[in-house]
Amino acid sequence: MRVLVNSNSDSLIAYNVLKKRIIDSGFCTLCGACEAACPTSALHIKGEKVHRLYDCSKDMDLCPICYEICPHSEALLLRSLSFVADAPIKNEALGYYRKIVLAQAVNPKLREQSHGGAVVTALLKYGIETKFFDSAIVSQAEPENPTKPKPSVALVPDDILSAIGSKFFPSSVAKAYGSAVYGHGKTDIAFVGVPCHVLALRKMEAWQHKIIGNLKITIGLFCFGTFSLSSLLEYITQKYKIKPSDIKGMHLSSKFEVQTENDVIQIPLSEIEDHILPSCRTCTDFTSELSDISVGGAYPLQDWSTVIIRTKAGEDFFYKAVENGIINTWVIEQEPKVFERIVVAAMQKRTEALKEAKEMEKVYGYLPVLLLRETEALAHIKIEEIMAKNIKTVPQDMTVSQFLDFVAKHHHIGYPIINEKGEPAGWVTLEEASSVAKKKRDATLVGQIARRKLVVAYPDETALDVFRRMSENETGRVLVFDRKNPKKLLGIVTKTDLMHTLTK
Ligand SMILES: Cc1cc2nc3c(=O)[nH]c(=O)nc-3n(C[C@H](O)[C@H](O)[C@H](O)COP(=O)(O)OP(=O)(O)OC[C@H]3O[C@@H](n4cnc5c(N)ncnc54)[C@H](O)[C@@H]3O)c2cc1C
Ligand code: SF4
Ligand code: SF4
Ligand code: SF4
Repeated sequence: MRVLVNSNSDSLIAYNVLKKRIIDSGFCTLCGACEAACPTSALHIKGEKVHRLYDCSKDMDLCPICYEICPHSEALLLRSLSFVADAPIKNEALGYYRKIVLAQAVNPKLREQSHGGAVVTALLKYGIETKFFDSAIVSQAEPENPTKPKPSVALVPDDILSAIGSKFFPSSVAKAYGSAVYGHGKTDIAFVGVPCHVLALRKMEAWQHKIIGNLKITIGLFCFGTFSLSSLLEYITQKYKIKPSDIKGMHLSSKFEVQTENDVIQIPLSEIEDHILPSCRTCTDFTSELSDISVGGAYPLQDWSTVIIRTKAGEDFFYKAVENGIINTWVIEQEPKVFERIVVAAMQKRTEALKEAKEMEKVYGYLPVLLLRETEALAHIKIEEIMAKNIKTVPQDMTVSQFLDFVAKHHHIGYPIINEKGEPAGWVTLEEASSVAKKKRDATLVGQIARRKLVVAYPDETALDVFRRMSENETGRVLVFDRKNPKKLLGIVTKTDLMHTLTK
């Protein structure tokens, strides 16, 4: 536990900042971490809002907890990232990881119910049955409204089976984590949540909160956003004449599907994006970059999930389930389309979030959570110390189809292109390649779609110089050239490298 310094100032009570910046500004995603972590039990989620039950400043002179562990505050981010930063691969779209595989539950009945690979359910059921953990935090469906998640402490396999499938509204899973510790006395807990839920738990870990020692493993879901429950259901009632009690399920494919007893209506995501919570618009994490194991869809493959294994704990547990015949796996390198879709979705989410954050800062005078801020620590680091020197390049006459296969095999998402003289002549990323229509990919060369403007750095510059240049040029990477020979490419630095440096 961190040491608190005594003070009489009311402004040192974190709740005041939490209320102003997060709750009243509409950035709360109702994870419940503040309620679980509050030392005076002052906070409580009721309806779609966090309430303070009494004035905690009467008991405490100073308390930073609820604001610091809130996933939408800027506190503790780099320390939270350090829990996964020993993984061998760091990818600017997907974060740190050890392996990516396609996976599915061996049991076909589970796959039928989940609309995906049912990997999460199969892993949790296996973990409870083998006593690898003693409980799991899941989001079941509210009996009277099956689309509404009911955060729960699963103690037996049936509790896990009744949580199968995704619910696209906020779930207070971190609050349920608190109940598992305080209410049920559980000591080895598995946790399932979207990226901001996982971030809240990592922040508690960074804070060394007393309840975090009971966490055994985190499974993070991919996430494009969650909807405001009251606002989306009201819209569906008005526009489609479907009452909340008539909705049997919701499902995300290329469109948003709403299922009733006799019908399925398909709604384009663009039609309902106004109902997505404000925090989701500035959220840069698509794949739950801080979890032990991340799980998401594997579009266009039916029945499969994509699994990103990030930590050693995640790897050991996942492969135990594979060895014991619970999970089937398949190599993602054989399915470049799946990899392409995930990377593009992650990059698009990040780019949109960064744009939106600039706008929101103007409105609120406060920038919601961003993983890398300008920091003086970067001024002490020379680019030559952190640049990647083992650079992979691609020839400018490589076709887009060949390039997409190349990306799936090598896991980086952007590469310098080299002209016929062997000199760097531009930069091509998976995002640009995947925007080429499928039927034109064999006939289009990467040289035709590459960005010709290179953002350049030199080895003797500081990481802060380069970070500023990245921000000015709205790019996540620079090429490092030899000052004496400006055509000689020495290395590459990405924003992820800068973050990695700070976590160290
Ligand atoms: C809000 C949301 C948005 C998502 N967006 C995307 C996306 O854009 N692209 C993509 O590829 N995948 C997305 N996913 C993940 C995807 O829908 C599946 O959850 C994931 O692929 C795991 O599939 P599975 O078959 O292994 O899960 P299952 O075996 O069906 O298990 C699902 C688990 O998710 C948990 N859960 C359900 N709803 C919630 C919730 N609201 N909050 C926290 N936990 C919950 C349940 O406890 C359950 O254990 C999203 C999920 C959610 C909840
Ligand atoms: S006592 Fe609870 S509500 Fe008050 S500042 Fe601390 S964590 Fe927040
Ligand atoms: S910790 Fe969670 S519930 Fe509390 S204010 Fe932040 S997002 Fe909302
Ligand atoms: S998009 Fe981000 S903030 Fe929104 S629910 Fe998903 S993880 Fe949380």
